[in-house]
Amino acid sequence: MSTDHMNIDIHTYQVPSRLLDSKKCPKPHIDAIEKYKQLYEESIKDPQTFWGRFAKELLHWHKPFETVLTGSGFEYGDVAWFREGELNASYNCVDRHALVNPKKTAIIYEADEPGNSRHITYEELLRDVCRLAITLKELGIKKGDTVAIYMPMVPEAVVAFLACARLGAVHSVVFAGFSSDALRDRIQDASSRLVITSDEGMRGGKTISTKKIVDDAVKDCPTIEHVLVFRRTGSDVPFSAPRDLWWHEEIEKHRPYCPPEIVNAEDPLFLLYTSGSTGKPKGVLHTTAGYLLGAAITFKYVFDYHENDIYGCMADIGWITGHTYIIYGPLLNGGTTVLFESTPVYPTPSRYWEVVAKHKITQFYTAPTAIRLLRRYGNDYVKGHDLSSLRIIGSVGEPINPEAWEWYYEVVGRKECTVVDTYWQTETGSIIITPLPGATATKPGSATFPFFGIDPVILDPTTGEEIKGNNAEGVLAVRQPWPSMARTVYKNHHRYLDTYLKPFKGYYFTGDGAGRDNDGYYWIRGRVDDVINVSGHRLSTAEIESALILHHAVAEAAVIGVADELTGQCVHAFATLKPNEEKTDVKDLILQVRKVIGPFAAPRKIYIVNDLPKTRSGKIMRRILRKIVSGEADQLGDLSTINNPSIIPVLIEKVKSS
Ligand code: ATP
Ligand code: MG
Repeated sequence: MSTDHMNIDIHTYQVPSRLLDSKKCPKPHIDAIEKYKQLYEESIKDPQTFWGRFAKELLHWHKPFETVLTGSGFEYGDVAWFREGELNASYNCVDRHALVNPKKTAIIYEADEPGNSRHITYEELLRDVCRLAITLKELGIKKGDTVAIYMPMVPEAVVAFLACARLGAVHSVVFAGFSSDALRDRIQDASSRLVITSDEGMRGGKTISTKKIVDDAVKDCPTIEHVLVFRRTGSDVPFSAPRDLWWHEEIEKHRPYCPPEIVNAEDPLFLLYTSGSTGKPKGVLHTTAGYLLGAAITFKYVFDYHENDIYGCMADIGWITGHTYIIYGPLLNGGTTVLFESTPVYPTPSRYWEVVAKHKITQFYTAPTAIRLLRRYGNDYVKGHDLSSLRIIGSVGEPINPEAWEWYYEVVGRKECTVVDTYWQTETGSIIITPLPGATATKPGSATFPFFGIDPVILDPTTGEEIKGNNAEGVLAVRQPWPSMARTVYKNHHRYLDTYLKPFKGYYFTGDGAGRDNDGYYWIRGRVDDVINVSGHRLSTAEIESALILHHAVAEAAVIGVADELTGQCVHAFATLKPNEEKTDVKDLILQVRKVIGPFAAPRKIYIVNDLPKTRSGKIMRRILRKIVSGEADQLGDLSTINNPSIIPVLIEKVKSS
């Protein structure tokens, strides 16, 4: 994996002048790279002072902490932050803002059907959270209990998160697109006592039988005592009292105030299972104060949050991005967050841009999969919508191909917005490598520099030695603990140690390959499991896929390594094409890779397909393609997270016949 053979012409983009013009935009919190460097240096050299200061500034403590960081670093996974401190997450997200700014909009709900939106103020949110918190308390939920949330993207889902947090109960949110089996496994693993769900869900004009899925799942979950059902569509759904209870009937019984349960800084806040791109999902556990601090500080600086902003993250609350950047980050800062129930293409591929124009969104955050999809549809769907409110546009979830980055920057951002390519993981809790919009010159495809307090290193994958200086290639690890890092894998601390702390002693290991270029910019190359080794050249999937996408006909690409007697491995590629490009010659695509990277990276085979296997959060699942090509389609492993299982037989057929 090295950049020296890359011929992609990468430009550097300075901070758009509009962002620094006080007549047009609020002054960025960090408006020069020197200011970033200064704060960054302090955060690494003196983390105790740095994090102690921000913990006091950004959070409300019911009892102050005395120590900032304790524990053995990365040896035993016993790190603790702010250990004497006591606080409550829902108080921090809601009460303190409702007290000073009750009429401010906390949530803008944009429903699946266009034209249906609703504003919820901080005082309304507080009443709703309190009513539900008392309801849960009456049902016996107390501090430390786990509650499963399987909800569509409605404001009540946010209320459910915060009501659990108010009681010190641990929420375990499961994306409401998961099957009943996947939900069952997660409820069982977490021993959840209650599920909060809805009668049905609505997405892209389609109805989802949410409650039915829950019924199937809980059949085999003896720990579940109640299922609390929010009425989203009002359709008739199976209902079995006394286990099942209607949300609207229960909350009416209670007064809309419930005192918050004050918890210790290190008490758990939530559990969340990873996307499952590489294997069986892990139940990642986050604790209260450190996670909240990470969410609050990154939201403020990465999205350069200001008082009157309208912030919109298009992720689902079922993913870490939804947790940290739809709910906790914005609400901790007293911001206004958009909750989007629909899809980027419903009813047309203009939906995102209609929503931006309608609500005058200032920060917009989505994933490369959506950006590539909308680029495939073409610019006409973007044109004609007033996107002038935007200042910052973000990307998260996978490496973003430079070609898709440029499209996002030019067509959506009109060259007037900073693109923040934010790198992080469920386990990191909050963004760890990212540009700061008012300070960092960006390069398409690079997540640029570490966030405050993050000390990244590139390690040699075989020796584990740090590769110092610029022009480094290897695997990405972190040298110092940071507040929002996951504390354990639920009831499986061994797996936590084995996955993150043991592979390279003294470091947190991300599992991703990365490079640091001549200017010190970080480039995420993709997962270490996906790295391809051709005649001793370590090639990154992201690099070859980006070369393919540079071809005008290609919409998306996935590459894998396949065993080869001569070269160790050779490259196979899967590609989807843009509309009306069916006549594309695969030889052209191979040539494209030869030209951009070099002959050794040229795919031995290219399969043109209609769709790629993806997780439900939209990430390409290369491990499935690897199995299919190597003739092991009967051993595909954990498939609970795949979004489009019906394409598997199609892919198997395609590979067989070519
Ligand atoms: P699993 O760990 O179960 O295989 P997952 O890693 O996909 O699933 P997440 O925690 O949702 O689960 O995703 C984190 C991963 O997503 C990162 O490790 C990285 O591979 C990828 N990623 C996220 N953001 C970026 C980004 N900006 N650039 C490159 N890769 C990214
Ligand atoms: Mg992962």
